[in-house]
Amino acid sequence: MTVVDQSLAEPVALQDDCVRAGAEWRSELYETACTQFEDAADVLHLDAELRTRLLEPRRSLTVNFPVRMDDGTVRNFTGYRVQHTLTIGPTKGGFRYAPDVSLGECAALAMWMTWKCALLGLPFGGAKGGVRCDPHEHSCDELERITRRYAAELIPVIGPRQDIPAPDMGTDEREMAWFMDTYSQQVGYSVPEVVTGKPAALGGSALRRRATGLGVVHVIGEVVRRCGWQLADQRVAIQGFGNVGATVAERLHELGASVVAVSDVRGGLHDPAGLDVPAILRWKAEHEFLDGFPDARAVGRTETLEVPCDVLVPAALQRQIVAENAERVDCRVVVEAANGPTTPEADAILRARGIQVVPDVLANGGGVAVSYFEWVQDQQRYAWDDVELARRLGGQLTSAVDRVAACAERLACDWRTAALAVAVERVAQAAGARAIYP
Ligand code: NAD
Repeated sequence: MTVVDQSLAEPVALQDDCVRAGAEWRSELYETACTQFEDAADVLHLDAELRTRLLEPRRSLTVNFPVRMDDGTVRNFTGYRVQHTLTIGPTKGGFRYAPDVSLGECAALAMWMTWKCALLGLPFGGAKGGVRCDPHEHSCDELERITRRYAAELIPVIGPRQDIPAPDMGTDEREMAWFMDTYSQQVGYSVPEVVTGKPAALGGSALRRRATGLGVVHVIGEVVRRCGWQLADQRVAIQGFGNVGATVAERLHELGASVVAVSDVRGGLHDPAGLDVPAILRWKAEHEFLDGFPDARAVGRTETLEVPCDVLVPAALQRQIVAENAERVDCRVVVEAANGPTTPEADAILRARGIQVVPDVLANGGGVAVSYFEWVQDQQRYAWDDVELARRLGGQLTSAVDRVAACAERLACDWRTAALAVAVERVAQAAGARAIYP
């Protein structure tokens, strides 16, 4: 590729990456998302124009902002918001606080949100954001100032009809309340529908805090049923013991399954006979982390992925099951509660070993489904109770599982490709119908 440098009046070669659309968000995770999209586009025989239109994120915003620390000093923070598809409605997706948040990571996660919303039939495109920080390093006051400033920086691109954030790693209903308050202060009236995952007192859904985890368990139940197994007979290992992982562990334990391993950022716990999940939840409530829990064998945090079990639930970070450890994964089904926990190389190894992978866009779709209910209800100022929400959530996920299973059979492909194919086809139809402006 060449451009004319006017000062030299000679063609000057540019680095390929400088002129390639979207070079800003190239990252390993983004490449994974692209590979998965291309696989789905291939089985759908999607034409080149639609591939081009659906692949790259539509908008991204990078912000740098100063925040005063408790000791009086000032630190700069970098935050991001990426909106992948604006075709079907406003965009929807969480924002996370973690030391390695990047534009590339947000771009990949935003793309997956598009497919997740489309797979579930929700009227949203995908988005994702985050602030590069370690939430454990900051006091509550510092986190409030970070959140409020991040919200203020995002005002030009967010809103109940534009882009609706939600919690993700390192953020929860507390941050959503600050975010909603900051937005409402700016516009001059209360706008609960600008975020989901809020406290119930602000119009939050009765089910939202547990929605993703409960949805994961519902999907596990559907998959187990399809295989002709009993949920109570399953041994489950869970990586990550935060909002999602802890809810999955608690609910599976209630339903009689045996949770044999759990882990958090500091390490894991293993008991082949089944862990005492309520005792671990109490320990975590008191000590924040799992280490030191006395009644289980302590293991390394990645060892959880390799213990013998029936169902493995990665519920922590992206890129945890990789080519290096995929051969040692010892389960029948992987249910991706986290976003992007399996690399394409590991995916191929698991497939060759006959291990079924239930992809993230399906497995953790319960969170955004209940977020959608919250957004609808905030606008109507009318709240459903948790029984009604659970009924609607179950119905939405069961039909998504059915759509994916039917598509996998029709196209003779794995569930990840099938889930993305269902979603990509829906967005492609909408994009095709709207055509290109101008
Ligand atoms: P969280 O911050 O509440 O919990 C994350 C957990 O992972 C913590 O227990 C943390 O200690 C642990 N962890 C971090 N690094 C680890 C490591 N290297 N090894 C083992 N454990 C590690 O986050 P969450 O909301 O539970 O989200 C978990 C995953 O689920 C993320 O991938 C997120 O994108 C995805 N997800 C969350 C939601 C939601 O509603 N919260 C919805 C959809 C998807």
